[in-house]
Amino acid sequence: MSENIHPIFDRLVTREEQERLLNQKGKVLWFTGLSGSGKSTIAEALERQLYNNGYFVKVLDGDNIRSGINKNLGFSLEDRKENIRRIAEVAKLFLDSGAIVLCSFVSPTIEIRNLARKIIGTEDFKEVYVDTPLEICESRDVKGLYKKARAGEIKGFTGIDSPFEAPKAPALRLLTENKNVAECVLEATKLI
Ligand code: ADP
Repeated sequence: MSENIHPIFDRLVTREEQERLLNQKGKVLWFTGLSGSGKSTIAEALERQLYNNGYFVKVLDGDNIRSGINKNLGFSLEDRKENIRRIAEVAKLFLDSGAIVLCSFVSPTIEIRNLARKIIGTEDFKEVYVDTPLEICESRDVKGLYKKARAGEIKGFTGIDSPFEAPKAPALRLLTENKNVAECVLEATKLI
């Protein structure tokens, strides 16, 4: 760290003070799963429900992160790691403000999720595995990406020619196959 950087965290309003103001406990729900598994749909519906109930919530997903702070990053292994590192650091800043942060990222490997967990802190990092079979994700093909991946137009697509490592002990495993979004949201609210 540069000697010219002088952290001022000890002078700032603390997380505990922020949480008292907001009347909530900050935490990070980290949604992981295949593309099209339902991460964003569930995170967005959960955000709306929590907001309606008076919570301060922030959703971080590929759209608001890769279009802004991470727009200089691609999909090489190195860039994917840097992507997650920055996301986790941003999530931590929100966490320190007492926010409930909903992160929705494929984050396909145990290593990459452990990196996020380490930055955010094990206590506050709640891993939510959105467990939807590949066939279903592919049949939904929300963004048409599976079709492109099968046609060889996208290389290294998670689930097709790049692995997804399922979490071994997630805080919550959402089997979306036979559930609707509202049921998944209800399960996720138990982590708040
Ligand atoms: P991801 O963010 O994981 O890439 P999306 O949320 O963009 O996935 O897409 C998931 C799709 O699956 C949406 O079209 C959504 O309506 C549909 N879907 C069907 N059932 C569920 C469910 N139980 N939970 C979440 N999404 C569901």
